[in-house]
Amino acid sequence: MEKNSKDLKEELFINKLSGWLDINEEEKNEIFNFSNEYINFINESKTEREAVLYLKNMLDNNGFKNINEVDYIKEGDKVYYINRNKSLYAAVIGSNKLENGLNLIGAHLDSPRLDLKPNPIYEDNGFSYFNTHYYGGIKKYQWTAIPLSIHGVIAKSNGEIINLSIGEKENEPIFTITDLLPHLAYDQMEKKMNNAILGEDLNILTGSIPYDKETKSVKLNILNILNKKYDIKEIDFTSSEIELVPAFKARSLGIDESMVAAYGQDDKVLAFTSTKAILNIEKPNKTCVCILADKEEIGSMGNTGMSSSTFDYFISELLNKKSENKEDLLYKVYNNSKMLSADVDAGFDPIYKSVSDDNNSSFIGRGVVLNKYTGSRGKSGASDANAEYMAYIRSILEKNNIRYQVSELGKVDSGGGGTIAYILANKGIDVVDAGIGVLSMHAPYEVTSKFDIYSVYKFYYKFYEC
Ligand code: MN
Ligand code: MN
Repeated sequence: MEKNSKDLKEELFINKLSGWLDINEEEKNEIFNFSNEYINFINESKTEREAVLYLKNMLDNNGFKNINEVDYIKEGDKVYYINRNKSLYAAVIGSNKLENGLNLIGAHLDSPRLDLKPNPIYEDNGFSYFNTHYYGGIKKYQWTAIPLSIHGVIAKSNGEIINLSIGEKENEPIFTITDLLPHLAYDQMEKKMNNAILGEDLNILTGSIPYDKETKSVKLNILNILNKKYDIKEIDFTSSEIELVPAFKARSLGIDESMVAAYGQDDKVLAFTSTKAILNIEKPNKTCVCILADKEEIGSMGNTGMSSSTFDYFISELLNKKSENKEDLLYKVYNNSKMLSADVDAGFDPIYKSVSDDNNSSFIGRGVVLNKYTGSRGKSGASDANAEYMAYIRSILEKNNIRYQVSELGKVDSGGGGTIAYILANKGIDVVDAGIGVLSMHAPYEVTSKFDIYSVYKFYYKFYEC
């Protein structure tokens, strides 16, 4: 007998309904509890260094050991390697030989922000400022007239390291970049958005009290305060990494509390969920590896970025310490490995429909997002996952009833983006981008769906288990 059209449609069409329709009250509680844990993490992890510390503690508390402190490893062991306090690799050793391939998930810990210039302190007409150089893709106008906090390290030439964090606690001051009042902004408002605020003008207001009548120097007063508090001089800023980030707290968003608003969710939401997944893996078949990279937002360069050979070094250490290494074995390991590049996708935003093809967009609240390829304008620079590998990934999702959608970032000629996927694909690993959708990506406040956060965590766990 012919099926009725409603059933036939359900059978043949892709399910594009909200994921919230699939869950019961108990699952909703699980989702909300998991999101609360995530909100705690992201409030404590505004920079890559803070995220590494937080995640290291999670690993330490779950039986992981620093690989530098173990001489050999065996099936079931859990190890990690911290690269210059800014990126981290963790592994759970499987029962199979490493040369049979790894199950890898790779996210990144860095987010767009404002970095201090090497000589940041100056004074102008009775105000003192920090000069900045922005990091990653930002819309500069979004960073004025919002509360900012300072995070980072100053490394002194005597070897001392000073950790800075000002502006997160209620009793601490915050910082801001002033903007022009509308009354005098006629010329500014006529400019293109990209030029209305210049990178050179993203200057952080830091003080207004002169040191004394003699010098009238506000800069001197600021340096004197810093000197008393941290024992630093102006020259010490030349060996520092200090970041200005939004001082907003991560919060539940909406009357139904279904979403999370927070700074830096690209890509700490997937750093958190992939770490949580590997924490819960015991005695896997394949060795599971969690990559938490730095410098993704500026092209993955440098010795803490994904392009660095430090990652090869970590995998070689696994081979060495498991006594499996042979000449050139690393190539074989990579060619047999499977990976999820855990990065966020641009969620469809009904206010800005025109940049997206709604049939090929990801929607927040509809689960895991797979990007078969990224790149821009003709797939330029893309790592395009093989059909067979896509099918393998789909089979894991479908077997475990995890909602997913396959999308691309924006309309064909609208732009595009990249992730760390191609770097690992170039080593011979099967890779696909698998994350969740985000609204207002790279803005001081980004929006995600709690349903997606929990779905992607479940997916990462099941991927590791294979
Ligand atoms: Mn990202
Ligand atoms: Mn990004």
